[in-house]
Amino acid sequence: MFKKTDKPYIIAGPCSVESEQQIDYIATALAKDGNTNLLRGGIWKPRTRPNTFEGVGSVGLAWLVAAGKKAKLPTATEVANAKHVEEALKAGIDVLWIGARTTVNPFSVQEIADAIQGTNIPIMIKNPITPDLDLWVGAIERIQGAGVTDIAAIHRGFSSYEKTKYRNVPNWGIPVGLMQAFPGLPIICDPSHIGGTRELILPISQKAMDMNMTGLMVEVHHEPNKALSDAQQQVTPANFKNILEKIIIRELTP
Ligand code: PEP
Ligand code: MN
Repeated sequence: MFKKTDKPYIIAGPCSVESEQQIDYIATALAKDGNTNLLRGGIWKPRTRPNTFEGVGSVGLAWLVAAGKKAKLPTATEVANAKHVEEALKAGIDVLWIGARTTVNPFSVQEIADAIQGTNIPIMIKNPITPDLDLWVGAIERIQGAGVTDIAAIHRGFSSYEKTKYRNVPNWGIPVGLMQAFPGLPIICDPSHIGGTRELILPISQKAMDMNMTGLMVEVHHEPNKALSDAQQQVTPANFKNILEKIIIRELTP
């Protein structure tokens, strides 16, 4: 599933699915540009503070699946527990991802592993919010233990108490450690959550490509400033196309 050709493997779509029209509009625009391999959209959103938008919930699964079918793009969403897995599988979501706040908790990762046992659905595992390589390795081992063969890791940066230009500091050495722990494992960079601003998407993506990562996961919204979550870091489909055109894929010497 997660293969790099002469181009990076591209996962794009809004932080959150907000309405049937919103996800359909974004999926159509992404499909038209032809760069996207997988359509992302959050249904259940793990927000840091309560009383903010926590996702549309189960009703959005059908919207995401329908938008993907129409645009001829497979779909992916975040799951954090067995109920999410069950509902996403039933709705026909093609790929599941485990979010950074879930990867830190081995109980939750094991619950997800148990729920997907025997399905062989492709899974993407984001790094834990803490800069802890072992937790990331352990989560991948738990998913491998569930018999999943199509696995990718997503590097989305790490929480830090220090104020930096990043929303989540990249600590590039940690994904390098993961590459050494699992040679050949596809690693996708999420410059949206590392940077937290639109301006940082291009330089972070370029760095990831220079490190020979497999692909990119980028948050794309047709009206970023009106987005119900992560408004500052989402880009329009046109802006995204432009960013991808600027990324240079260099020949890496083995
Ligand atoms: C997301 O992808 O929208 C998300 C919540 O990401 P993370 O788990 O990396 O914070
Ligand atoms: Mn987000």
